[in-house]
Amino acid sequence: MDFQISSEEQDIQRRARAFARSAVAPYAGRWEQQEHFPAETLQAYAREGLVGLTVSKACGGPGATTVAYALSIMELAQACSATAVTVAVSSMVAEVLSRFATPEQQARYLLPILSGGFVAGSFALSEPGAGSDAASLRTQMQIDGECGIINGEKTWISSGTHAGVFVVWVRDNGEGSRGISTVLVQPDDVGFSIGRKEDKMGLRASSTVSLHFGDCSIPVEARRLSEKGGGFRIAMTALDGGRIGVSSQAWGIAKGAMEDLREGLRQQGRSLLGEERAQIAQMESELLAARALILRAAWLKDQRKPFSAQAAMAKAFATESANRICQQAVTLLGEEGCTQLHSLERRLRDCKVTTIYEGTSEVQRIVIARSLMRA
Ligand SMILES: Cc1cc2nc3c(=O)[nH]c(=O)nc-3n(C[C@H](O)[C@H](O)[C@H](O)COP(=O)(O)OP(=O)(O)OC[C@H]3O[C@@H](n4cnc5c(N)ncnc54)[C@H](O)[C@@H]3O)c2cc1C
Repeated sequence: MDFQISSEEQDIQRRARAFARSAVAPYAGRWEQQEHFPAETLQAYAREGLVGLTVSKACGGPGATTVAYALSIMELAQACSATAVTVAVSSMVAEVLSRFATPEQQARYLLPILSGGFVAGSFALSEPGAGSDAASLRTQMQIDGECGIINGEKTWISSGTHAGVFVVWVRDNGEGSRGISTVLVQPDDVGFSIGRKEDKMGLRASSTVSLHFGDCSIPVEARRLSEKGGGFRIAMTALDGGRIGVSSQAWGIAKGAMEDLREGLRQQGRSLLGEERAQIAQMESELLAARALILRAAWLKDQRKPFSAQAAMAKAFATESANRICQQAVTLLGEEGCTQLHSLERRLRDCKVTTIYEGTSEVQRIVIARSLMRA
């Protein structure tokens, strides 16, 4: 058993940390208060070669490991989890394009995500009434000559206001999961528009919007990402990997909360009660356990071994423990923890949603139980 992180992985972690500490952390509080989506910073992060880390060199990416990717998101989320989720979703879109897009599609949509030519990429699966049960989605695509005509609505789509490309799941092949295909939509496509911006409790420097397709017309052969009916598999494959990103994001938030707590207690200069010491020991142990689960899932993915259940375990445990850690850190700092004196109250608000998106904790437990029953 080797717990060593390779020198390449350490180098990527160092680069992400340096960027996060100098170009993100000092501004994260202001971005959140002003609900500022940090487009230029995101493009600068991409120019550092840190978006789409796992995209192979053959597809124009850095060809780094998932372990390196997880470490980089952990660093970014300690500074600003809104920035981390935007990068994580763009990286997930990049990985989908690297695996399923044609060379022409990759040149047009993947390379700009990797280079910062696009601010972000969006992953448009969820719909009103089709969140956990994505297979029930209703956005339709009908074929008219060489065009795909899309009608419907997507909801809760991260980075929708700034994305250069949208990976969209549509129904074009009947009912159920086999009736779903994946296509690429551009922001300037006729009949496509951005709808309501969500007023969220946290991650206020990320954008989350609905998307409207009203007879949206796309050149269907150039934009298909899957064969007809093959889209659901792409979504589930992407979400397995995406859950490592969300776990890493939650871990970074919790790690940041522990740092805030340490600093706050130092400033208060008070000595801890025995019970408080026990709580801190528990929080630190959960942090370490979460990290081990995340890196194990990442390592399995890198080894091309089955990792779906491990990613689900990492997500359920890391996101729930991060919420406990943030909650407890606020409690331990007393009233100060509830103010903007530290970043704790922001971290507590940002953390909640990590137990919801890319599959709620309940859904993760279904994935884990299913895999156990199959074994
Ligand atoms: C900030 C934010 C960003 C997001 N970004 C994106 C994005 O970029 N792209 C995208 O496609 N989606 C995105 N989403 C949507 C997200 O993935 C969904 O919210 C999530 O999948 C849950 O779906 P839902 O909200 O419809 O909840 P529901 O599916 O309606 O679930 C409601 C509750 O019921 C529980 N539940 C549902 N089914 C079961 C079951 N079978 N057994 C037990 N319990 C169950 C759930 O765990 C949950 O507690 C985002 C959401 C948020 C909040």
